[in-house]
Amino acid sequence: MSMEQGNLSINSENIFPIIKKWLYSDHDIFFRELISNGCDAITKLKKLNIIGEFSIPEGEEFKINVLVNAEEKTLTFIDNGVGMTADEVKEYINQIAFSGAQDFLNKYKDKANEDQIIGHFGLGFYSAFMVAHKVTIDTLSWQEGAKPVHWVSEEGINFQMGEGDKAERGTKITLYLNEDSYEFSNEYRAKEVIEKYCSFMPVPIFFKNENATEEPEEETEVESEVMEDSIVDAEVTEDGKVAETKKEKKGPKPLNNPEPLWTKHPNECTEEDYKEFYRQVFHDYKEPLFWIHLNMDYPFNLKGILYFPKINTEYDSVEGKIKLYSNQVFIADNIKEVIPEFLMLLKGVIDCPDLPLNVSRSALQNDGFVKKISDYITKKVADKLSGMYKVERENYEKYWDDLSPFIKYGCLKDDKFREKMKDFIIFKNLEKKYVTLPEYLEAAKRLNGEENTEEVKAEVEETKSESAGEPKEEKKDTVYYVTDEQQQSQYIKMFKDAGIDAVFMTHNIDQPFITQLEQSDEKIRFQRIDADINATMTESSSEEENKELDKKKDSLTEAFKKALKKEMLEVKVMKLKDAKVSSMITLSEESRRMQDMMKMYNMY
Ligand code: ADP
Ligand code: MG
Repeated sequence: MSMEQGNLSINSENIFPIIKKWLYSDHDIFFRELISNGCDAITKLKKLNIIGEFSIPEGEEFKINVLVNAEEKTLTFIDNGVGMTADEVKEYINQIAFSGAQDFLNKYKDKANEDQIIGHFGLGFYSAFMVAHKVTIDTLSWQEGAKPVHWVSEEGINFQMGEGDKAERGTKITLYLNEDSYEFSNEYRAKEVIEKYCSFMPVPIFFKNENATEEPEEETEVESEVMEDSIVDAEVTEDGKVAETKKEKKGPKPLNNPEPLWTKHPNECTEEDYKEFYRQVFHDYKEPLFWIHLNMDYPFNLKGILYFPKINTEYDSVEGKIKLYSNQVFIADNIKEVIPEFLMLLKGVIDCPDLPLNVSRSALQNDGFVKKISDYITKKVADKLSGMYKVERENYEKYWDDLSPFIKYGCLKDDKFREKMKDFIIFKNLEKKYVTLPEYLEAAKRLNGEENTEEVKAEVEETKSESAGEPKEEKKDTVYYVTDEQQQSQYIKMFKDAGIDAVFMTHNIDQPFITQLEQSDEKIRFQRIDADINATMTESSSEEENKELDKKKDSLTEAFKKALKKEMLEVKVMKLKDAKVSSMITLSEESRRMQDMMKMYNMY
């Protein structure tokens, strides 16, 4: 049987409704796509310049202009990049999903290795049809003898093209907006979207409202005053900057910052730079505690800054924001497939052009490369924290209350993080000093060694063997803890009097954290300060007294069983050192944890 062969063809009339609906859930994203295409076009030209195929004319200022016209309901994007020849328009625009960016990279990848080209998917341009019923392109290629091209398409289904009249090199794209997308020709709405997606794109973006009767001169004057101040600053610090600032002063300011802080080397950034950048990006006027500047070229390219925000109270909802970029183009906030969940408590920016962002999110989650990236970020965070513990313990302690929920959450969520951080977890003790667990246990042992007399030890043994039937388990190191300083103040006092220390565990995260610590270290057990009477607090009694106490115990047990109608009940009678305390109700650690858990699940 002979088989017919061929390529599947896509009919644009069928595919467009699908693309429009599913390609991007946010319609405003066409701004990002069209502006990033302009950036790409300029980057390409710079590359051609580097490899000697093109020479940038003197005084050339690369930029992208965005023009809104609310009366005409149009939006225009103009760049002075490579432009396109008629053949290129046919190849890259008329053939959907044939990405010219990919083509360019393939062609020049050995010559210009630092690939900063944003496009990958070959669908970006068509996002214009999500908001416009008609789109025109006017373009003039950089190539010698190239003729300007005019291209127009209604609904992105068919097109007409011919010779145009564009006189300067570059591309101008005009969108005639659909009725339901008129908002994008509004100056403020347009600026808002540009800020969202394009704040850090690598080429200056200028904005113009074509309906504005006058140029906003007043604004420029005010700004130039501010500029003057910064010139004074600049003169003091750095010569090169002065000239730049002066030049800027004459022209309007771009909407974006083409050189965001993360693109610089950490050595070039001052503390104030980091704080300023934080305010600029997160509009958070509380200062961050500290930050990590990620700067990695190999084996993958990743740059960024992670900030540890200040958490004001225990009840503050800890919610950070990590913005993901690819070559300075905003991709999304809080992509949990890339950023480990517990790091979502931080605020920051991450630029990773190597991420395979053209795949679905579920594929991202299972991508080995993405996993490496997220492991790298986790490691950097752990390194920063442990480094701080080792060389700036004072600061570490100062920040601990803010850091601890984050670190504990990280330990719960991520084994590798826990492995790296476990020796650097500190606990506030009864003296309000910070100790690590080993430090706490060490102190407890010293205390036992000095104070516990033979008799007390014997007594401890006795009580142990009394707990009938239980297999003799290995002796565990007990860590006493306080969850509520006020409520447990009586116990705190007794502990202090007896010279026994305890640590504060007052945050919601502490209970699961304790459980995890017990699971990962079999020798440690945590016991709330009011769960039992510590042997050190009781006084040894003579044999006579013991008999007496036993009798009391029996009658009291009966009485309590009757009163509380409970069979499972244990009454202990002993002589306490502190004569002021006559009786105490304790609830065993296990029962209490069970109750807490049931409360949590509303079963109690
Ligand atoms: P991608 O950017 O992923 O390649 P797009 O649909 O955004 O896909 O663009 C398709 C191609 O059209 C680009 O790769 C580029 O070759 C060409 N193109 C689009 N916009 C411009 C522009 N402003 N200047 C020059 N070429 C452009
Ligand atoms: Mg593109």
